[in-house]
Amino acid sequence: MSSRTIQVSAFDLVVFGGTGDLAARKLLPAMFQRDRAGQLPDEGRIIGVSRRALGHDGYLDFVKKSLSTYVKASELEPEALKRFLARVHFVPVDVTGESGWPELASLLASGNEAVRCFYFAVSPDLFAPISERIGQFGLITDHSRVVLEKPLGKNGESAHAVNEAVGKVFNEHQIYRIDHYLGKETVQNLMALRFANRLFEPLWNSTHIDHVQITVAEDIGVGDRGGYYDTSGAMRDMLQNHIMQLLCLTAMEPPDAFEADAVRDEKLKVLKALKRIDERNAEHMTVRAQYRAGSVGGQPSAGYLEDLGNDTSSTETFVAIRAEIANWRWAGVPFYLRTGKRLTKRTSEIVVNFRPISHNIFDATAGRLSQNRLILRLQPDEGVTLEVTIKDPGPGGMRLRRIPLDMSFVETFGVSNPDAYERLLMDVIRGNQTLFMRADEVAAAWQWVDPIHAAWAHNDQRMHTYAGGTWGPSAAIALIERDGRTWLEDSE
Ligand code: NAD
Repeated sequence: MSSRTIQVSAFDLVVFGGTGDLAARKLLPAMFQRDRAGQLPDEGRIIGVSRRALGHDGYLDFVKKSLSTYVKASELEPEALKRFLARVHFVPVDVTGESGWPELASLLASGNEAVRCFYFAVSPDLFAPISERIGQFGLITDHSRVVLEKPLGKNGESAHAVNEAVGKVFNEHQIYRIDHYLGKETVQNLMALRFANRLFEPLWNSTHIDHVQITVAEDIGVGDRGGYYDTSGAMRDMLQNHIMQLLCLTAMEPPDAFEADAVRDEKLKVLKALKRIDERNAEHMTVRAQYRAGSVGGQPSAGYLEDLGNDTSSTETFVAIRAEIANWRWAGVPFYLRTGKRLTKRTSEIVVNFRPISHNIFDATAGRLSQNRLILRLQPDEGVTLEVTIKDPGPGGMRLRRIPLDMSFVETFGVSNPDAYERLLMDVIRGNQTLFMRADEVAAAWQWVDPIHAAWAHNDQRMHTYAGGTWGPSAAIALIERDGRTWLEDSE
């Protein structure tokens, strides 16, 4: 059973970069699915904008092709497709020039009081010129919002410049910085588990939690996105945004309400409480590495430098960090963070490891007692597992073992999860910023990450290597094992 669908208000969604990969793979399919679910009102329009000289029909062909590629054939009902295509418009605009803007302005004017969402699905160096033109052509109404895609800068300074440029035209309450991880069901369930149950919150601290692991692993390499990736690396592409957001939601204090600023205030406090890592301790607290040739899923895989066609790159495709939060709740509890490409499998999870029980009443025949673990899986199959110790069934002695209480959302609710973009796009139209990042959060995340980058450069920190299809370099295993702990996949 899924929740009731409530229609959003009339809207115009203007997608800058309407012919790009993100629009094709995520935005158009997400809007189509919401339309199928009955969530879009008749007065909902999707306006693709790009510099490609496509006519209306040419853009409809692009939309149809995108949907037939990224939506299951069984879900692409002719009626639904027809209804969706009737919402679609296209305006060719070179956003750095003047042409096309008057046409866009007059199309928007016909939308009257509709909520206006400007989605910047373009390279971030276009955020400033687009914002400027939007301001210049008077396109901002009281019901306007802007969505910014990652990456939000390459460091604190460039993120500040982006925020400044967009902030000249839009108010902070109109700016939606998207991190699609926050739209995942499991991430929202983390908040439900913590704050809608008696069970976890009393134990959610250093007295009862031994450590936390957050892993975002991909089995693919850089593919044809090597050019972009090489300027970014695992730290900027994944850790600074997705992993740090997961860390914040795991570690934050309960907000006084599930409201945008209350939640974001608490996340900000976590970011500010992260212990600094710089040239004094980076060698000890961080591992960076690059994948080499290997084998993923039985298939041979090339190394990063071959994928890139450049044998001098020193961009990391893997990073592991031992983070600590210096506050009352978390003092002494390490948060092991790691992300990488070409790892054994695609998986994203948060693993909360509880401390051992304080006194064992069972004798040696019961076996070694395992610790409780709460595992929140974000992908591939979203769900939650609580590992508890029980007695082995049967009349034998008291033998104990750890078993998973498993909840797969798909199995439990009988529906597959909507893509995160579906949820987030509806939140933008509704005007709910809870699952979006505020400017000060982005700045605080960079304030923690920038000194690590500086330390890597300053110390000329070693770039480890790992074979494709493994869990990363041995140094990442050593990072956790030196504390007497193991990554989830290495534990019994
Ligand atoms: P893309 O290169 O496939 O598409 C870029 C789009 O911008 C195209 O529609 C192009 O016509 C348009 N464009 C470029 N210059 C323009 C100009 N001067 N005037 C008007 N239109 C112009 O890129 P993408 O993969 O769709 O990514 C877009 C943004 O979203 C990037 O910042 C990227 O980092 C981010 N992003 C992409 C993904 C993804 O899965 N593709 C995921 C997360 C974030």
